[in-house]
Amino acid sequence: MTDEFDTEIYYDDDANSAKIDDRTVAVLGYGSQGHAHAQNLADSGVDVVVGLRESSASRSAAEADGLRVATPADAAAEADVVSVLVPDTVQPAVYDDIEDGLEPGDTLQFAHGFNIHYGQIEPPEDVDVTMVAPKSPGHLVRRNYENDEGTPGLLAVYQDATGEAKSEALAYAKAIGCTRAGVVETTFREETETDLFGEQAVLCGGVTELIKTGYETLVDAGYSPEMAYFECLNEMKLIVDLMYEGGMREMWDSVSDTAEYGGLTQGPEIIDENVRQNMEETLEGVQNGEFAREWIVENQAGRPAYHQHKQRDIEHEIEDVGAELRDLFAWSEDEETADEETEQERVSADD
Ligand code: NAD
Ligand code: MG
Repeated sequence: MTDEFDTEIYYDDDANSAKIDDRTVAVLGYGSQGHAHAQNLADSGVDVVVGLRESSASRSAAEADGLRVATPADAAAEADVVSVLVPDTVQPAVYDDIEDGLEPGDTLQFAHGFNIHYGQIEPPEDVDVTMVAPKSPGHLVRRNYENDEGTPGLLAVYQDATGEAKSEALAYAKAIGCTRAGVVETTFREETETDLFGEQAVLCGGVTELIKTGYETLVDAGYSPEMAYFECLNEMKLIVDLMYEGGMREMWDSVSDTAEYGGLTQGPEIIDENVRQNMEETLEGVQNGEFAREWIVENQAGRPAYHQHKQRDIEHEIEDVGAELRDLFAWSEDEETADEETEQERVSADD
């Protein structure tokens, strides 16, 4: 497989820590990714300065975690590597503040390619532009690192001014724990377009509409909302967990023969050629920049459509039914709390 698709996967042994050891890294933002990158880098022995606005509520959190804090402009001016981990929609504005701090040979480092790929940030030609994108939310990037585990990630080089862009990005990936699990090389274009398509068509957008449409079909036919919720939403996790563990095969092998036969025959009737065509159109909008333009303009206008869509989704009946059922049944909350406690015990035991 690996050869056929020419996909390189890099591990700890492929990365040379010396490429980042003597550099100062400015981590801009202290949210999901920012806090994890900053703390993992620091624990790996890299000199880190966190860049946050004077008014930022995250300043005290970063300082409490033992990190040095400066304004984004000062942090970037001081640093050799500037890791841009503020929300994608505010990155262009933050970039305006830090641009002057980029010296020849510095690195501009991202965890998602949107602003570079769609030309919202245009770095000077004499800096390296790289991406190290953990395929996981930040709190897991941090937790895995602390537990001597890794987080899989993507690596890409957009601009290699020094000839060292890739080896430095690999060292960065190692310092945040990604090469422990494996890092796949990609491009800014591929990462951005597949990420946007995936979240729109399959993950966030596709799966919520699939669930809601299934739920509505049952409820409209007179079945109880509770049954519809269990069948269409609650069981989704069980099925996806099986596929995550062992592919479609493991899922099909775990369900009844009746479920397997009905799923195999009716699935393609539901997700039919129309859906494929819709997906192709969604992909086209991602590729030709139409979606990016729409989202940029939407943000400039104060997100009117965003708020409207979000409200409509929140108000769907399935949300109330779900909240009630999750309260009534003692499975999710309790399990979560138990996991959390075990996790804390494990962490303090390690200390
Ligand atoms: P976030 O929303 O969790 O945190 C952003 C932080 O930026 C805030 O905590 C704050 O410290 C700072 N910030 C917010 N607004 C600001 C402003 N106007 N000016 C300056 N600083 C501001 O962001 P995130 O989810 O960690 O995303 C950061 C980058 O990582 C993005 O490029 C995102 O696409 C990418 N990424 C995120 C995830 C994820 O799971 N969250 C996964 C992979 C990649
Ligand atoms: Mg600098």
